[in-house]
Amino acid sequence: MAALSHTFIKGDISMYDYLVVGAGLYGAVCCNLLHKAGKKVLLIDKREHIAGNVYTENIDGINVHKYGAHIFHTNNKKVWDYISQFAEFNRFTNSPVANFRGELYSLPFNMYTFNKMWNVVTPEEAKQKINEEKESYIREKRLERGIKEDSEFQPLNLEEQAISLVGVDIYEKLIKGYTKKQWGRDCKDLPAFIIKRLPVRFTFDNNYFNALYQGIPVGGYTKMVENLIDGVEVRLSTDYLKSKEEFDSLAEKIIYTGPIDEYFQHCLGHLEYRSVRFETEKLDIHNFQGNAAVNYTDEETPWTRIIEHKWFEFGKDSEGNDIPKTIISKEYSSEWKPGDEPYYPVNDENNNDLYKKYKCLQDKEKNVIFGGRLGEYKYYDMDAVILKAMDKVNELLN
Ligand code: UDP
Repeated sequence: MAALSHTFIKGDISMYDYLVVGAGLYGAVCCNLLHKAGKKVLLIDKREHIAGNVYTENIDGINVHKYGAHIFHTNNKKVWDYISQFAEFNRFTNSPVANFRGELYSLPFNMYTFNKMWNVVTPEEAKQKINEEKESYIREKRLERGIKEDSEFQPLNLEEQAISLVGVDIYEKLIKGYTKKQWGRDCKDLPAFIIKRLPVRFTFDNNYFNALYQGIPVGGYTKMVENLIDGVEVRLSTDYLKSKEEFDSLAEKIIYTGPIDEYFQHCLGHLEYRSVRFETEKLDIHNFQGNAAVNYTDEETPWTRIIEHKWFEFGKDSEGNDIPKTIISKEYSSEWKPGDEPYYPVNDENNNDLYKKYKCLQDKEKNVIFGGRLGEYKYYDMDAVILKAMDKVNELLN
């Protein structure tokens, strides 16, 4: 990686072809592809480290996911082949456990979950149970909406979508409380698409993702991002918006990956985000919970989940030795307020409408490209962010 400095030199527009604001995945992929194409690129980030929210820090041999668990998964071979050039991925498969008031269930919703919930044994029995629960719920909803018995039922919110997929019991125990804690909103006030991310399977398969490729980069995400930006000039602890004019004078084009509303000084109002706070503890024991992720799905437990970082790499350090201690992070979800890190855009109707207005302003900024979860105000997974960045650079270069 090039020397990290944050001294600012005022220059002329021809100093760089591109200024990339934000050293997260979107910014890093843009840097990599632009640099490879021979462009002069400057990457800046207001944090004192690279890698944005995928940043990992090695503490006592454990790669700690400082801004929450990131498990890379994709169905897109192009993305997988591309990103695999910068990291070797281990065989980690995400299979979180749900803890509802001390009862443990397998996630995502699959035959292990259904068996524990209802003692059903065959897929047919599980489907029948879900159908019974779902049909009586839908009957009530149809009555409420005044629509005909045989008309198609369109779930209008997360609660309706969840119950249509897995029935009432699973909704009550594994979805309702967790979602309310994560989003700070009732399931009835959240869009249906959020829950469609989760697979529902009638097989004994605890793999959380329906993805052909999955794993954790060996050596951590920070190393992967370091490899992506190899050869690119980087300035950390450098706030673009605080000295926007000077930075704009350095490059012909800007790739901005921060929050879009912040870019426009919130002139149309604030977009809403969810933020996450972590309480990380080092424990003098070998094994705290026996799994990388345990979701606390009741409403009363204040945290949404506990991550035990060592299990992303099977409890081994980089030499393959068992790690005697462990590090856990309790994750607390909160509404974003100025000064917090924004993590999740809240893609409900009001926010999406406001985003569209910002998008109109964005279209007038001819030399600025807005990208990534915050720049595009979309709940993207890592692979989607990478693909978007690859496509954008392709478009810029052609
Ligand atoms: N979800 C849930 N119970 C769980 C896990 C997830 O109800 O135990 C719901 C919740 O609404 C959440 C959504 O599924 O917002 C998507 O979960 P995912 O794990 O994909 O969220 P992320 O990892 O991005 O935080």
